[in-house]
Amino acid sequence: MIRPDLIDRFRVPPGRKLRLKNHDPGWAQTKEMKELGKDAIKARAQEVLRVNLAELAQAQELLYANDIYAVLVVFQAMDAAGKDGTIKHVMSGVNPQGCQVFSFKKPSSEDLDHNFLWRYMKALPERGRIGIFNRSYYEDVLVVRVHPEILGQAKLPPGKRNEQFWQDRYDDINSFERHLVRNGTLILKFFLNVSKAEQKRRFLERLDDPEKHWKFSTADLAERGHWSTYMKAYEEALGATSTKWAPWYVIPADHKWVTRAIVADVLTSTIRGLGLRPPRADEEQKKALAAARKKLAAE
Ligand code: AMP
Ligand code: MG
Repeated sequence: MIRPDLIDRFRVPPGRKLRLKNHDPGWAQTKEMKELGKDAIKARAQEVLRVNLAELAQAQELLYANDIYAVLVVFQAMDAAGKDGTIKHVMSGVNPQGCQVFSFKKPSSEDLDHNFLWRYMKALPERGRIGIFNRSYYEDVLVVRVHPEILGQAKLPPGKRNEQFWQDRYDDINSFERHLVRNGTLILKFFLNVSKAEQKRRFLERLDDPEKHWKFSTADLAERGHWSTYMKAYEEALGATSTKWAPWYVIPADHKWVTRAIVADVLTSTIRGLGLRPPRADEEQKKALAAARKKLAAE
């Protein structure tokens, strides 16, 4: 397990400006680990992940048995930061029936005929389930903020698309998430913080390795060209929407195994924090169970 104070250091405190320069994408737990090199980091992180996955499977089963809470896990990141791999590894131990993953691409014309939260609302996890958003309504204050011309497609009422417009969207998101939390959905939001240099390395890997060509998209390269605008949009959006009820975590993403271990750790400890127990039968249910047993035995 990662120490709780370490988990705290990744959480974005509510009501404060976020400075990404204070978050090291290459963080690897301790200086000694770093000096030991990549293999040692990987081995240690894999061990943390292994323990967490077993616990996560248990936590998820309790979630399902209680059927009261849902968990919504949001992933946002620049391209090649490792969202897909993290989702694949962290959820590998969870019962597929207890888990739903949604990947959000560019909105359809039907989506654009509705309010910006609509398509995400339709995909929210049921009670007892873990729902994963691979990209989310945060795209509507990230990619859309970096490319405000996209807003032209959204058929919004007239009005200025100024600071206040984005502030209003943050407010809408905070209220939406508060509503969900009050109704039994736990919300965890992860920003996988990859460095520009590591993204370059991963893009080159995709270009060099024929087996990875399919992962490369020229559109991703175009977005890389807007790196600093994206970072500003992330800083502002995450600072404005990290709340007590739905915190953001900035996860170091230059070492894939570190990313996966931390995400699994935060997820597991949050679900365990609910203190769920296997549901016990009440008196009436016990009577029904006893009657069923009697009936079966008499067959
Ligand atoms: P990928 O996840 O790599 O397949 O890419 C999905 C693409 O859809 C990315 O370029 C996102 O920026 C884009 N996208 C996702 N959500 C939205 C949105 N709400 N508005 C505009 N573009 C979006
Ligand atoms: Mg992509």
